[in-house]
Amino acid sequence: MANIQNAKRIVIKVGTSTLTYENGKPNIRSIDHLCRVISDLCNSGREIVLVTSGALGVGIGKMGLEERPTDTAGRQAMAAVGQCELMFLYDKIFAEYGMKTAQVLLTRYDVENEFHKQNVIECMSALLDMSIIPIVNENDTVAIDELTGSNIGDNDNLSAIVARLVGAQSLVLITDIDGLYNRNPREDDSAVQIPVVLEITDALKEMAGGSGSKRGTGGMVTKIQAAECACAAGIDTYIVSSDPNNLYALTDGKVVGTHFVPPSIAVSNE
Ligand code: GLU
Repeated sequence: MANIQNAKRIVIKVGTSTLTYENGKPNIRSIDHLCRVISDLCNSGREIVLVTSGALGVGIGKMGLEERPTDTAGRQAMAAVGQCELMFLYDKIFAEYGMKTAQVLLTRYDVENEFHKQNVIECMSALLDMSIIPIVNENDTVAIDELTGSNIGDNDNLSAIVARLVGAQSLVLITDIDGLYNRNPREDDSAVQIPVVLEITDALKEMAGGSGSKRGTGGMVTKIQAAECACAAGIDTYIVSSDPNNLYALTDGKVVGTHFVPPSIAVSNE
């Protein structure tokens, strides 16, 4: 079965709950571990694109706010503060492992407008050719859902779009839960984890519910949407829990989290 073991280009999406503590301060141990594993995967010859959330959360933590601002401009301001802090941390920590990084901020317009899209593809390709790790987030300064409905809105969907743009073979969604469950495991002890999904049906989407952590915006629903978008382009997709060692496990061929198998691969293996 073609899967992440053989993937040369992998998009990894990490959420706010992995990158920050409950109080919004950066979880340096977690960020450092993630950067170390990604650097090692790059050293082994893989090309990695990191899609990161956390700008808003880190901004709120840095400014010592108790809660997310209720107004759009206030949230934009906090995301702008946090994006800067987050990139500073990534750049510093990746540099310790000998890696170079680049910030790529995108909006829906950039990935839908043919001219902008082509520019994004060429820039990403140039970065990867130079062994630079592109670190992508939505451009929260200009992507304002409340005002225009024109943003992508969550980084799960953004990561699938990016995976398609860069022609990745695999997409890994790192989150605070170890895969997709048949029921919400936070509320139901009998919930069972699903290791492989061969087809994303309406029933599966229904089952995913809306479970997500307080600090991020993506729950399972947006992860299923991302998996559907990526799988439609033949990109196999994984949901794994926050421990970056799961990236080693996946690339070593072990079964962790939930694997969404693209239809083309599922059919060819029947
Ligand atoms: N772009 C937002 C941020 O960096 C996150 C969106 C998401 O969590 O999906 O805070």
